[in-house]
Amino acid sequence: MTPSPVLTESLAGGQDTIVALATPPGRGAISVVRMSGGLATVIAARSITPWPLEPRRATLCRISALDGKQALDRALVTVFVAPDSFTGEDIVEISGHGGLYVPALVMETFVSHGARVALPGEFTRRAVLNGKLDVTQAEAIGDLVDARSAAMHRTALAQLDGGLSRRITSLREALISIEALIAYDIDFPEEDDGPVPRDRIAGEVELLLSSLDALLATVAAGEMIREGAIIVIAGLPNVGKSSLFNALLGQSRAIVTDVPGTTRDAIEAFVESESWPLRLVDTAGLRETSDTVERIGIEVSERYLTRADVVLACGDSAESLSAVTDALYGKTEAPIIAVRTKSDIPDQEKIRSSVIRVSAETGTGLKELLTEIDHLLSVEAGPLRPDIPVLTKSRQIFAIQRARDETKAFGNAWRDRHLPAPVAAVHLRSAAGALEELIGAVSTDDVLDRVFSSFCVGK
Ligand code: GDP
Repeated sequence: MTPSPVLTESLAGGQDTIVALATPPGRGAISVVRMSGGLATVIAARSITPWPLEPRRATLCRISALDGKQALDRALVTVFVAPDSFTGEDIVEISGHGGLYVPALVMETFVSHGARVALPGEFTRRAVLNGKLDVTQAEAIGDLVDARSAAMHRTALAQLDGGLSRRITSLREALISIEALIAYDIDFPEEDDGPVPRDRIAGEVELLLSSLDALLATVAAGEMIREGAIIVIAGLPNVGKSSLFNALLGQSRAIVTDVPGTTRDAIEAFVESESWPLRLVDTAGLRETSDTVERIGIEVSERYLTRADVVLACGDSAESLSAVTDALYGKTEAPIIAVRTKSDIPDQEKIRSSVIRVSAETGTGLKELLTEIDHLLSVEAGPLRPDIPVLTKSRQIFAIQRARDETKAFGNAWRDRHLPAPVAAVHLRSAAGALEELIGAVSTDDVLDRVFSSFCVGK
């Protein structure tokens, strides 16, 4: 991992030693308790035998309370000595038996010897403050823990690997080199066109703007990766929507029945196409009805329709296909795929050729349908390019937008010569400042609080 630039904030309260259960509490084979800080090895020495341990080597140890008198667990213990650890401090990691009781006893012992229970995200926060990770990498750890799709996993790993940080660092360097050119220009104002041609600076600003725009162009994709694209299955009752939903899910979750209107409300499930995570929504039939429960279902489907990324207009006949197409008219801005369901049953009358034919019964057409959904989403969100990191957090988006706006303002002032160079250069400094805040080169408590507020304890 790339170490972050020198931090302006020193490690607040760095002397205190924190301890937390790093695995979810509850019944399980193994639980990991980790302790980090200046007293970690001192505290461990009082309850772990044998001691001392060879660093970075898991050793089977006896953990005991009250200075060795009461045995608590037999566990694998690994010691990491500062600064070669995740947090940059001494760390003792105990992989002991799982469950609620044993890890709680181990934690209690360490706390009674002087450790403090960690706050959510405090280990990662210390890693950032000690220059082990920058802030965007810390965010990537949060995303990795929260990942529930291949796309999110890929994006978070690339960010943890420093992809976004490297890009931002190089943009910041480009800004600083323009600042340097301007400074030179200011120092030699009497020379004709200045020692640096104005066009050269304008050209570099243009390049920078297009790089910032390329990053901002990933915002839609980032949102789709984070939230999942909403794919709404629409159609009259009994055309096979729930069956299609289940077939796409590969498992039975919705109620499938041949009584019209049984799907009372929207059901959501998470599936994946080749590039995107999908939130598949099965809604109630769109037909007008006096049945109040089903009316609610219809409202739910309409509510989803306004937020849909793709709508599957399903029908098992020419008539039901045109009914659903009519019902959808004006209710959604999302692209619509016409889906002829129950394709194992032959057409009674001619159906237009632009439909995708699927059968929940035989599985025909499901793959083609997923490919078409994937394609439409890639058109909508822009394709994912391996060379451009994806912005997934509003903090990142705001910072890049600010950097872009400030760079643009500088570019305009430079072109129109309506501000003296030293004044125009203030915009460049603000743009660089936005990028510095983003990677934590200038990290304030406020920024760190926002980043770590959603972390779990033990991270
Ligand atoms: P919904 O009301 O639109 O959700 O429709 P359902 O999924 O409940 O299906 C209605 C009826 O059509 C059920 O009897 C299903 O077994 C039947 N059905 C659904 N999909 C297929 C299919 O692909 N082939 C055939 N032959 N029957 C299907």
